[in-house]
Amino acid sequence: MIEVTLLGTGSPIPDADRAGPATLVRAGGQTLLVDCGRGVQMRLAGAGSSAGALTALLLTHLHSDHIGDLGDLIITRWITSFGPNPVPLTIIGPPGTADVVDATLRAFAPDIGYRLAHHPDLTGPPALDVQEFTDGVVWQRDGVVVRAAPTDHRPVAPTIGFRVEHAAASVVLAGDTVPCATLDELASGAGALVHTVIRKDLVDAMPLQRIRDICDYHSSVEQAADTAARADVGILVLTHYVPGIGPGGYDEWRALAATVFPRQIELGDDLHRVEVHPAVCGRGTVTPAG
Ligand SMILES: [Zn+2]
Ligand SMILES: [Zn+2]
Repeated sequence: MIEVTLLGTGSPIPDADRAGPATLVRAGGQTLLVDCGRGVQMRLAGAGSSAGALTALLLTHLHSDHIGDLGDLIITRWITSFGPNPVPLTIIGPPGTADVVDATLRAFAPDIGYRLAHHPDLTGPPALDVQEFTDGVVWQRDGVVVRAAPTDHRPVAPTIGFRVEHAAASVVLAGDTVPCATLDELASGAGALVHTVIRKDLVDAMPLQRIRDICDYHSSVEQAADTAARADVGILVLTHYVPGIGPGGYDEWRALAATVFPRQIELGDDLHRVEVHPAVCGRGTVTPAG
């Protein structure tokens, strides 16, 4: 079984109730964090996890909403790892990730200096292992395999989606993208597809061109559902809601997806959890649990 927790279902637009984009994937005793937007550590705590518990951080792309709390995550893991040989945090992302991580460490250089000077048992800066990919197998450990494939979020490029597999269960995390053949292939037959979405019908009616611009490079609810249908996935999990969904609003979003995708559709508040089980033909089944 693979467990998916929507840690943050928000977007760049600040929301009192929704953290920035981040999804937790637990598989085979490993804890993978996909993107680390605003408030990610508060939601990690809410999900019973922490920066120190992460096996790896996977980044779909380098937009601010998806990496907003990267520095906080790196520093917190560092100062809450108390053993003599802390396990480096593996950070996997598209080309450009290493530069962003280096710049983040430079931004936190005063903090790192203060703490090294103050705590004799901290013997070095945060231990990190940054790896850049555009496709292929990016992680393989103890029965958990993660593959990446290019997505299409242009002019933001390169961007990637991930497919996590464990014991015949599989979950694909699309990130921000318009429909594309490489995502279709990555998602083919997966137990679940976690897809970011915007309501183009609502966003297109907004009076600000800068807001309407975001329709160019995101999938609408219907487009994400169409991708899920084409790829024949078992469960469609929607996240990254633009505009934020108000009280009682889920049924309308679910109905839009259901016009195209006839199977289980999941969406919800931050910390919404979905269990993805192995099934015949690799198809997943759903157990909504919170
Ligand atoms: Zn983006
Ligand atoms: Zn985004």
